[in-house]
Amino acid sequence: MIISMRRHATKEQIEHVCERIREFGYKVHSIAGDERVVIGAVGVGDVTPCLEMLEATPGVESAVRISAPYKFVSKEFKQEATRVRTNGVEVGGDEFVVIAGPCSVESEKQIMETAEGVAQAGAKILRGGAFKPRTSPYDFQGLEQEGLELLAKARAATGLAVVTEIMSDKDVGRVAEYADMMQVGARNMQNFALLKELGKCGRPVLLKRGMSSTIKELLMSAEYITAHGNPNVVLCERGIRTFETATRNTCDLAAVPLLHELTHLPVIVDPSHATGKRSLVPAVSCAAVAIGADGLIVEVHPCPEKAYSDGAQSLDLGQFQKMMRDLKGYLALWSESRRQPQPA
Ligand code: PEP
Ligand code: MN
Repeated sequence: MIISMRRHATKEQIEHVCERIREFGYKVHSIAGDERVVIGAVGVGDVTPCLEMLEATPGVESAVRISAPYKFVSKEFKQEATRVRTNGVEVGGDEFVVIAGPCSVESEKQIMETAEGVAQAGAKILRGGAFKPRTSPYDFQGLEQEGLELLAKARAATGLAVVTEIMSDKDVGRVAEYADMMQVGARNMQNFALLKELGKCGRPVLLKRGMSSTIKELLMSAEYITAHGNPNVVLCERGIRTFETATRNTCDLAAVPLLHELTHLPVIVDPSHATGKRSLVPAVSCAAVAIGADGLIVEVHPCPEKAYSDGAQSLDLGQFQKMMRDLKGYLALWSESRRQPQPA
């Protein structure tokens, strides 16, 4: 923090400000200029409460934050990229990781057929919701326990790792028994009780950006998980809500390189929820590869027109296989760029 004192701040006021900053646990460096005193405060942790105190303290003209309010997830804290490992797959490493599967787990036949198809096409992780966050209480809410068991069966049959959504802190233990990776959906990005519990769950977390959340808020949510003990977090850009209605959301692709500047955590893109339209998924997927994402999460269903949720944005197995083939050339360039030294 940099604190500028008022021009005629008294010696007592300056000393009082320094004393209060020290009480918050920060080190104080004050510089007396010709006109005013400027105080630098350094230390760890979120400075927000200290800033609020300073704004209300006599003699202070302004107090500004100079470092980000998140620490563990920041590049300042750790320079090298975090590789999140789950069931033999590494996200954030030398390979672009594709996660694929249906929006919801619907039946044994549906999840098995999808798992086999996406595995053959090169996906490494199977997605599928057993607990579904639906806008309407009358829509399909997921198979819950049965869905978790079916996902475990699909993993056993294909060797794919499994990611599934967790909606409540009360279900963390039970979902962690079945899933290799815990997905926090857009609607729960700021469910702080859930984030704290996930800090202790021992499984990597796929944290999706809230539909109206800023990059800073996304990183603060990731900070919750890491500060509570779990450094294995993958971030996901899944589109944000804007004035545009032609697509379900607006895909904020620039968020990918920006996040890579700010954090060491891997970043993947969800072209399905970002667009809401199956026809746009392959193009946005190419763009995600080109812009340096660490992977994709794509909705795939053996018969999208019969899907219980998100059919319009789901690829069928043939479309997914074609997309994976078409991505190959871009992925070769992606691998080459990963081998080049990254700018600091
Ligand atoms: C999902 O992945 O099916 C989902 C509900 O996504 P989001 O939380 O991004 O809306
Ligand atoms: Mn969905």
